[in-house]
Amino acid sequence: MNDTSSPDAAVQLYLGALVFSLVAVFLVESLRPARAVGADAPRRWAHNLLLAALATLTTLYTPLLFAVVFQALGAEPWGFRGLLARVEVPAWLAWVATFMVLDVTGYTIHRLAHAVPWFWRLHAIHHSDLEMDATTTHRHHPLENLATAALTLPVLLLLGAPPLAVLGYSVAVTVFSTFSHANLTLGPRVDGWLGRLLVTPDFHRMHHSAERRFTDSNYGMLLPWWDHLFGTASAPAHGDEARRMQLGLEYFRAPAAQRLDRMLLQPFGHEGFDQARAEGRSAAL
Ligand SMILES: [Zn+2]
Repeated sequence: MNDTSSPDAAVQLYLGALVFSLVAVFLVESLRPARAVGADAPRRWAHNLLLAALATLTTLYTPLLFAVVFQALGAEPWGFRGLLARVEVPAWLAWVATFMVLDVTGYTIHRLAHAVPWFWRLHAIHHSDLEMDATTTHRHHPLENLATAALTLPVLLLLGAPPLAVLGYSVAVTVFSTFSHANLTLGPRVDGWLGRLLVTPDFHRMHHSAERRFTDSNYGMLLPWWDHLFGTASAPAHGDEARRMQLGLEYFRAPAAQRLDRMLLQPFGHEGFDQARAEGRSAAL
């Protein structure tokens, strides 16, 4: 075990990667934005980042997440020996297995978040952003982060993933999901080849479309393969099509709905959800 396996170092590495990727993507996307940046953008960024800070701190300093991350960093959390700890596999194979299993788990939990009513009410805050950029990445309700952590925990235990590989995946997914939320277009060519390997901004933007058939597609976290394998992939839009598509949700478009307090209360309110249900706009209500 080296230094990165201690809780403090793991938290610092994770937060460092989070802040670094936010700043780097924010600067890069300002050079070649896929969509126009409106005059209200600074206000959006402020509320998104406040919610992101709250969600990240709540989740990091919650016993549940401590259990998920730091008990998983031990070889036998609660005396339990998972699959990879039982069989002798080379370290690189254990890392590959950890990345693949955690990524397909993330994909599955994300699909559940769209299909299960209470889960969608929490996840809808991520989707009610009217634009998509680096600041959208961590715009999650703290309770959604807790639910995701609770659902990931059994998978981590059963897999018995190497602690550093779990940390490695957490850092990778943080960095790459900031990139995949960027207000940046790679153009059909670069997006075409990079999109075979990674979830790109053009691919993920479809998931933030206000049109439900697209919202319920492109669920992938790091790898787009699960969407192709399980038939949930939508082809990315580029150029004018990407510029003009409506993002967000049809039923949370009032400027006041973007305020921090309203976002935190959104899952418990009924206004927008009732309207959406009455109009048949979402199955998950
Ligand atoms: Zn989603």
